[in-house]
Amino acid sequence: MKAALFNVDVDSLWVYAQEFGVNSKTLPDLAYQEALPRLLEIIKGKNIKVTFFVTGKDLKELPAARNFCRQAAAQGHEIANHSFSHCGRFEALSVKELENEVIRTHNVITEACDTVPVGFRSPDYNINNKIFQVLIRHGYRYDTSVFPGWSTVLMRLYYLNFKFKNKKFGNFNYLLSSSMPRRLKRSKDWQKSFWELPITAAPLLRVPFHPSVIYQFGWRYLNFCLNVLKIFTPNYCIFLMHAVDLADFTNLKNKKPFPDMIFTKWQLKDKIKLINRYIDFCIESNMSFLTNINYIEMLHPSGPNAGISLQTAPVR
Ligand SMILES: [Zn+2]
Repeated sequence: MKAALFNVDVDSLWVYAQEFGVNSKTLPDLAYQEALPRLLEIIKGKNIKVTFFVTGKDLKELPAARNFCRQAAAQGHEIANHSFSHCGRFEALSVKELENEVIRTHNVITEACDTVPVGFRSPDYNINNKIFQVLIRHGYRYDTSVFPGWSTVLMRLYYLNFKFKNKKFGNFNYLLSSSMPRRLKRSKDWQKSFWELPITAAPLLRVPFHPSVIYQFGWRYLNFCLNVLKIFTPNYCIFLMHAVDLADFTNLKNKKPFPDMIFTKWQLKDKIKLINRYIDFCIESNMSFLTNINYIEMLHPSGPNAGISLQTAPVR
């Protein structure tokens, strides 16, 4: 059995506005009121489970965010932690600040969704040992911030267009880092192990193929990446998208915060087609759609789903 892990980073528009240093107060909530309900509509009846990485700030301030997450959790999707404020240079925060970011979000998810989050993705994929230790201390079961291959280079280059020289998107070790799930903390008790689930890049060339990159390089590039994936048939694959990948920007009057961000330029119908392309690929490849935590439960030898054989191997 091969696993497809659909991951959505729910970065609301204020996250982008924050990067550009502009006021986000007048921006609509395209993520929770438009894009995410649209995703649930697309996957309806397809037995697809998704992992949503949400910020504590959204859950605290937006009733629509709480409603959506509660509803999604009740439907068997996973709600995971994406920090409280999605601040830049997350990895440079002090341990106390990191704890604050993780715990505030943890508490608001627990309270709003009646589910305890156990997974984390760092803002901009910046992770280090200090953050791992904070997560382990607070009972987290996995992190999924490492993006192996060329993504760190490509994203840095893209952001140079906006004169952001300091934005990092992980570090250059990612060029060589493993694409396989790794157990960073071992324990006989499956509930106490801690894993890193790397985001999947296309095998061999190790290039990313999530929508942000497809907007730039187009359908041929996507087809190439998926063909390579098909040939090397990974047993484990994270398909990453962001909430803006199903948001319609054509009617947004104030585009000032993101004048040239490429996700504002694609038509909604093409964005929907793109998400369906990933889903169809997984179905054609006989992949099973799992939440990240369900997948981890299969990896551990004494986990509740360990009897289902799924090797940890393989995306190169
Ligand atoms: Zn994010």
